[in-house]
Amino acid sequence: MSRARPLVTIDGPAGAGKSTVSRALAARLGFTYLDTGALYRTVALCVLEDPELASSLSEAGIARGVEERLGTLTRGLDIRFGDAGTRVWVGDREVTGEIRTPAISQAASRVSAVPAVREGLLDLQRRLAAEGGVVAEGRDVGTVVFPGADVKFYLTADVGCRAERRAAELRARGVEVDLAATRREIEERDARDEGREAAPLRRPEGAIEVDSGPLTADEVLTRMAMVVRSREGS
Ligand code: C5P
Repeated sequence: MSRARPLVTIDGPAGAGKSTVSRALAARLGFTYLDTGALYRTVALCVLEDPELASSLSEAGIARGVEERLGTLTRGLDIRFGDAGTRVWVGDREVTGEIRTPAISQAASRVSAVPAVREGLLDLQRRLAAEGGVVAEGRDVGTVVFPGADVKFYLTADVGCRAERRAAELRARGVEVDLAATRREIEERDARDEGREAAPLRRPEGAIEVDSGPLTADEVLTRMAMVVRSREGS
């Protein structure tokens, strides 16, 4: 893969601060922000709006027979980003706000365990990052989607800290939340994201691990920006 500008990946579990830091890092470096979680969230929204597919989303995951339909649905979606990667459309419909509810978080973590969905989003992710100058955030961007990325980060924090952050983020958006429920929701998502067979959440080989627990978002950002700049110059 030859790129004029670096491709940076940031993986990590829910609530580690990836979105805040990835957006800010992209802005600071003048790079494009690629929010791969938004792609899975958009697929989840469309699945929930199809009564037959929605009923296949069970606690145990997705019934085998509907995998193919999910793959077809995923490949057929016209998902686009705008406003520095912070707004999302499917076709002409903007879904930026709708994909941020706890129900969509859970549904996204279920549909993302389906190999046909993951494969259906691979091409799109690679096309969006082909030119480089991109900060991609997700669960498998440094391992599966862009194993040849120029700089890889793995952003973590302990679960209590992530739950508090996620609850504060949702409250700021006007969503009513309970801290204990948010923590349970994050633990369930961690278990699914780490335990699934298809592209489980792992620290990518060669990734720089950053514990965001004791650091402010600004401190994390400054560290990461320094690393990317030092690699750019080398
Ligand atoms: O990062 P975000 O919370 O928006 O992602 C929503 C869900 O999408 C995650 O819980 C995860 O299951 C899934 N996801 C994924 N691979 C990615 C990004 C997100 O499986 N690269």
